[in-house]
This record gives sequence, structure tokens and C-alpha cells, in this order.
Amino acid sequence: MFSLPQQALAIKSDVEDFFNKQILPNNHLWHEQSQQGQAIPAIENTIRTKAKELGLWNMALPQLSDSEPGLRLSNLEFTGVAEVLGRLGWASRVFNCHAPDVPNMELLQLFGSDSQKSRWLEPLLDAQFGSAFAMTEPDVASSDPANLETSIIRDGDQWVINGTKWFATNASNENCRLIIVVGVTDPEAAKSRRQSMILVPTDTPGIKVKRNLPVFDHTSANGLHPELEFTDVRVPVTNLLGQQGAGFAMGQARLGPARLHHCMRAIGECEVLISLMVKRSTERTTFGKRIDEYSSTQAAISLSRIELDQCRLLVQQTAHQLDTVGNKIARKQISMIKVAVARSYQSIADRTIQLYGARGVTNDTPAASAFSRARAFRIYDGPDEVHLQTIARLEQQEQSGSLLDHYLLNQEV
Ligand SMILES: Cc1cc2nc3c(=O)[nH]c(=O)nc-3n(C[C@H](O)[C@H](O)[C@H](O)COP(=O)(O)OP(=O)(O)OC[C@H]3O[C@@H](n4cnc5c(N)ncnc54)[C@H](O)[C@@H]3O)c2cc1C
Repeated sequence: MFSLPQQALAIKSDVEDFFNKQILPNNHLWHEQSQQGQAIPAIENTIRTKAKELGLWNMALPQLSDSEPGLRLSNLEFTGVAEVLGRLGWASRVFNCHAPDVPNMELLQLFGSDSQKSRWLEPLLDAQFGSAFAMTEPDVASSDPANLETSIIRDGDQWVINGTKWFATNASNENCRLIIVVGVTDPEAAKSRRQSMILVPTDTPGIKVKRNLPVFDHTSANGLHPELEFTDVRVPVTNLLGQQGAGFAMGQARLGPARLHHCMRAIGECEVLISLMVKRSTERTTFGKRIDEYSSTQAAISLSRIELDQCRLLVQQTAHQLDTVGNKIARKQISMIKVAVARSYQSIADRTIQLYGARGVTNDTPAASAFSRARAFRIYDGPDEVHLQTIARLEQQEQSGSLLDHYLLNQEV
């Protein structure tokens, strides 16, 4: 276990206290309001105001400037806090620590001009509105960004955007004012220099929400993943984020911390699932035995604990790497946690569903929604296979020049 400074432990304890007193007791109400169609349930806004007043705010952004509000936790310091937030799907938003706004704020911090920061970053830091990130396209394999087809063409002092995006999480939410669109500005350039990022206000003419996509047959007011059509969408040239042709590199910079945060939150959610497994297995009896007396139940619980504690250590190590050597050097580690956590998350959710029997597939427990989030997590932010490819490639590079031939007998060295 990595040790944390006293100050970070105190913040985690404050967040935990707030979570237990303000958030968890309102979970039923939050779900009621959400089912009534409130994209951001009123209770969430009320609790967010309290969290902000207490200064429990913007904890996932280590690089805040002096004038920006927030707690400036390092990635490692944020791991413990994020686990608490992960215990409920909506808790991160209470503290302005949620995706896609956090990674979008990071992009603006790193690459935004002063005027872009004052128009978009400052209100996002204040949670005045939400944002979205539109890279994936239905017609091309988007895990390889070189395939993207959406065109961004300069016409005088404007960019003109044409193309279709989908799974742009939050873009069709009523609170969303900004979409960061990734598209091709330089079709003749090298593959990694073709794309750029453009800041597009959601009220720009030419943007059409074609549909909100169900995930595992499910759509909810607060988890919208729309398909969007951009037809001759015009924005000023000053809406280019960072340098023209740098979209690919900027995307990589955005995804490192974003993947880490998803993993941290998933660990918190898995802790809840393990607790629920233990609870349920002591409450029911079949064939004369309590369910926790069966070795299959014990294995389900034990394997979950082993996998989760392994994941936590790997995530802490990755957070430490991100803090000390940066996103680029930590990329193998980031791919490792992305695969390991998503798979364990899915297995733990699956075991929880099984132990809850029919109730496990309903919305009465968090297991079914955890399972669908975990399954989707094996695809978004890069499918498993792409991360395994990255890990293997980097492992091969690191292994070259070793003295391994000395271990191999019956051959000359
Ligand atoms: C819930 C959810 C939220 C999302 N949110 C966003 C968002 O906010 N913004 C956004 O832009 N996108 C978002 N996405 C999209 C997501 O990032 C993409 O789905 C992902 O990058 C994969 O792209 P694709 O769907 O085009 O799959 P493809 O690229 O077509 O890949 C499909 C499959 O092909 C196989 N494959 C691909 N490459 C390899 C390889 N190198 N080796 C072996 N097999 C391979 C894998 O099995 C992979 O799963 C979201 C997706 C989901 C499910």
C-alpha cells in the first residue's frame, strides 16, 4: 500500500464523511428524481452546493493554477478519494470530479488559449455547465484515430465541420454547452498529424442529435450517449484547441488521467459489490445450508478480494508514475490498469449478479448497472485488445538487449 500524506488522508476522511451523511442517504431520492426524467436530479444540485461550500471541489485536477478553485491533489492522493466517489455512480458529479468534464478541463488547461480558458474552462471549473468529447464515428473503426473521417475545413476566418459522431457522452444533455470535436484538418499529413480538436458550442447551427443510443437496452436521462450529425457547422478559427494537426497527441494526453480516474472509481464500486455479496450470502439458505457455507460462494468472494486488491496496488503504482514521470512514460502502466481493472470489475459484478439470483439482473441492486458499465469499459477509452497490443509492444522494446540467451541451453552464446 502506498502511504499518503496526512493532509490527503484528512481530505479523504472529509469526503467519506460527506458521502455517508449527504450523498448515500439521498440515493433513493436521486433515483426517484432521475426516473422522473431529471437529467441532473434536483437533490444532486443541492448537495453539490454544500460540497462546494466546504471546498470539497475539483479534486481530480492536480495542475490547477493559483486562481482556479480546487484542492490540488496529486493523482496518488486522489486514488483514495476517487474510491469513495466510485461507490455511487453519481457521486463524482457532486464534487465536480466526473467524466467527461474532468478530461475536457485538462485539455483546456494544457492547450487552451487565455480567451478559451475564460470562456470554457472557468465555467467548467465552477460546474456552471457540462461538456462532451466527440471522437468516435459509427462508420469507421475509431479505436484507430487515423481512421476518423469527420472533416474540418478552413473557410476564411471560420472552420466548417461535416461528419457523424456517436457515443459523445453527455452531448445531448440539457446542461451541455461545449463539444470538443476531433476531426481531420490535414488529410495529406502523416497519420498522427491529420487530426485537430475544435471547440464547438452546442447551440451552433448544423448540429443534429439523431438519437440517444441505448447501452445494453438502457437509456437514462443522466447517461446519454448520442449520435450527432454535423452539417456545415461553422465556428471561428479561434476555436481551434492547441495546434492544428496535434489532435492525436492531445487525445493521448487527455486519456491517461481519464483512464486512471475510471479505474479508481471502479475499485470503489467493486468494494460495494463485494460487501453486497457477503451480505446476501449470509441471508439465504438452500438445501439446508446457508449460501456462504458453499465453497463456490467462498471462491466468488475470495477471488473478488484477490483481484480487487491486486488492481488497487497497480492503480496506486500507476498514479504514482503519472505524478512522477508523466503520462507518456506511464503509458504501459496505464494500459495495464485499463485491462486489469475492467476485467476484474466485470468479473466481480458478474459474481454479484449470480449470488443475488433473479434480483441480480434487476435494478434493485447496483450489480446489473455495474456489469453493463464494466462491460462497456472494456471497449471505451480503448478496447482491451488495443491496450494489450500497446503493453506487448512496450514490453518487447524494454526486453531487447537482455542476457536471456544464457538461460537457453544447447546453443552458442
Ligand atoms: C458507454 C460508452 C461511452 C463512450 N463515450 C465516448 C465519448 O464520450 N466520446 C467518444 O468519442 N467515444 C466514446 N465512446 C466510444 C469508444 O471510445 C469507442 O467505442 C472505442 O474507442 C472503440 O471504437 P469502435 O467502437 O469504433 O470499435 P472498433 O475500433 O471498430 O473496434 C472494435 C473491436 O475490434 C477489435 N480490435 C480493434 N483494434 C484491435 C487490435 N489492435 N487488435 C485486436 N483487435 C482489435 C476489438 O475487439 C474491438 O473491440 C464510448 C463508448 C461507450 C460504449
